[in-house]
Amino acid sequence: MNFSEIIDNLGSVINNGDKDNIIQVFSAVDKAIKNNQIDVLMDDNLHNLLNGMCCKINDSGKMNLLYSKKFLETYNQNSSIHLSILIHEFSHLFDYLNSRKAYMDPSNIMFTLMELRALHNEAEFIKYFLADKFKLSEMEEFIMQSYENDDMETVSVLLQNTSPSMFFWFLEMEGYFMDKIVNKDAIFQKIKLMGYELLDRYKKAPNINELLIQKGKYSTFIKYLSHILYLICNNSEDEVKKCLTQPDIEKTSKEIESILQANNDRYNLYINMFFFKWEQDINTRYIVSE
Ligand SMILES: [Zn+2]
Repeated sequence: MNFSEIIDNLGSVINNGDKDNIIQVFSAVDKAIKNNQIDVLMDDNLHNLLNGMCCKINDSGKMNLLYSKKFLETYNQNSSIHLSILIHEFSHLFDYLNSRKAYMDPSNIMFTLMELRALHNEAEFIKYFLADKFKLSEMEEFIMQSYENDDMETVSVLLQNTSPSMFFWFLEMEGYFMDKIVNKDAIFQKIKLMGYELLDRYKKAPNINELLIQKGKYSTFIKYLSHILYLICNNSEDEVKKCLTQPDIEKTSKEIESILQANNDRYNLYINMFFFKWEQDINTRYIVSE
């Protein structure tokens, strides 16, 4: 088995479906690989299967799609997880081909959007191309259920530490501000109310299921709070500092940060449990040895 056969198999699964966004991602990236715009290589630094693939720009500026030996060795015709992982990376490569600048800046809002989009494409691929043909792995089931039931909220928090609903709320505020629909003071007001709402929702110690959503919403809130403050303060650090000392913004953001810190071990334990379960599921049940 060589890697291009896996890509061909992905191609034949995709040619039997009809979701345009996924077909478009596949054909553009497949073409770029065949044109040598992207090199596909095995990387000895990658070990397991679930994290067995990534995209990286090499020293001479060329995009590489890298995979682990285990990824290649464990692939077989009945395996859907390999294809799911591959379409996720294809989605990143597609974004890279379309917008290199945005892709290369991880602090950029676009970068978060691209990660969310890759996971969303992966979910649609699982649901519309794989679910009725393969015995899905537990991880794929989880991704698909989150797509069907909660707009990708739990799975995005789990895999990308981003709450999509919180992230898009900030983007919406940003849009209102840029379009002059709301002014600076109205944004402060909205942020304060959102902070209260978040703290209020998890007043009681969250149960195990709420824990993940709390972590996602809180860390996304903290991350994009400073982003939006910089935006409305014309990127002036002094102005942002002043905004942050507004009593309610300072108080809520500190409170949220301390809850995040206090629960850090619980969050990590809970998240690691999923990865452990998924990797075990793949190793013991799902991959049929040749
Ligand atoms: Zn990704």
